[in-house]
Amino acid sequence: MTVQPIELTIVALLGLAIGSFLNVVIHRLPRGGSLISPGSRCPSCGYALGPADNIPVVSYLALGGRCRRCRARIGVRYPLVELVTAAVFVAHYLVFGWTPLLAVRLLFAASMVALFAIDLEHHLLPDAITLPGLGVGLVASLFLPPGIRDSLIGMLAGGGVLWLIGEAYYRYAGEEGMGGGDVKMLAMVGAFLGWQLVIVTLVFSSVAGAVIGMIVIAVKRGGMKYALPYGTFLAIAALVASLYGEQIVRWYTGLYR
Ligand SMILES: [Zn+2]
Repeated sequence: MTVQPIELTIVALLGLAIGSFLNVVIHRLPRGGSLISPGSRCPSCGYALGPADNIPVVSYLALGGRCRRCRARIGVRYPLVELVTAAVFVAHYLVFGWTPLLAVRLLFAASMVALFAIDLEHHLLPDAITLPGLGVGLVASLFLPPGIRDSLIGMLAGGGVLWLIGEAYYRYAGEEGMGGGDVKMLAMVGAFLGWQLVIVTLVFSSVAGAVIGMIVIAVKRGGMKYALPYGTFLAIAALVASLYGEQIVRWYTGLYR
């Protein structure tokens, strides 16, 4: 595909704006707050942010990462989420071009960023994201890749595999190892990306989870309880699969031809 500077700019700015909205989702959804009103306020002094305080990244830099009124520190997480979302959006544009599939994958990518951040902070993967996501993934696949057949198989395979692992672990260890949120999240990934990329997501997230888990255990000398929540690995792996999964599958199947 040829990169059009105008399209690239639009996608990057859209990423910053959606990232700014994701900050609200990440902060309020787990706490049960409304996503629309009231407007953002400083957590320290209650100062209501004006339009000039709400420009993604720019406001944060202009104010030196502090509240305009009380000078309380604002988390670096806010501009980070905006920048990461913009980067993930641009990466998708470079792979998919200015196509209908790009719109679907941007929605998917935004959901993954939100799930990553919420799982990291709250160890929670809200149904309010995964269940509508599942529906949107299926409907989009009626018209676009991977196609409804692969999408349905992906949903059942993705959810089914994690459900089985969770069940097996529960019977073996007598405690909950895999949350229901992980099951619904991988089902959503399957609905958007199809069963081939669910396999890619599973393999990548497991390897990354095992490697980082071992590092954390070695450093902290603690048990598996210190490990990061699995949804964070699922989110990163699903983004890699969305971007490069097709190439990875083609390369891998080519090895055995
Ligand atoms: Zn303040």
